[in-house]
Amino acid sequence: GGFQSMGLSHAVFKGVTRKRYKIPTPIQRKTIPIILDNKDVVAMARTGSGKTAAFLIPMFEKFKSHTAVTGARGLILSPTRELALQTLKFTKELGKIIATPGRLLHVLVEMNLKLKTVEYVVFDEADRLFEMGFQEQLHEIINRLPESRQTLLFSATLPKLLVEFAKAGLHDPTLIRL
Ligand code: AMP
Repeated sequence: GGFQSMGLSHAVFKGVTRKRYKIPTPIQRKTIPIILDNKDVVAMARTGSGKTAAFLIPMFEKFKSHTAVTGARGLILSPTRELALQTLKFTKELGKIIATPGRLLHVLVEMNLKLKTVEYVVFDEADRLFEMGFQEQLHEIINRLPESRQTLLFSATLPKLLVEFAKAGLHDPTLIRL
């Protein structure tokens, strides 16, 4: 059950090696194969569990092929600017959009950016996104995304509001808890 057995391409595996990750964390071992299998996922995972790499490694794998599409392919929503910047450090060279929901809607309006090219969406620390009062923005964003997207929700806790959001916004998600 190492990174070698996950069927990652050479380029993505090299990235894992560069980060000096030797073995996957439990959340990575459980989520990465399911994400690579194109399933929606609700994962209960805390900061420190390796959750960021759990959604970034399969994202890199999916995005390694270039497409003619110009526009964002991945969207990662983080509760705070600090976490967004931290996550951006992993992905900078690939130029994905990572934003807090309030900021994202602002950017979308400002730049008239469309979300119809987005294939891969992550709600990171989703319980905190909701605690911070982003409900309306989250619903607005998810309504603008293509139906064909893959959606992942990572959260330390699963309050009722979040379960309802996942039921409405994710397609038959696999629930992963440790
Ligand atoms: P996170 O839970 O995403 O905030 O990650 C916590 C820390 O674990 C970060 O410093 C990661 O770089 C590190 N990390 C993630 N995956 C692994 C792994 N498989 N092996 C060792 N460290 C890891």
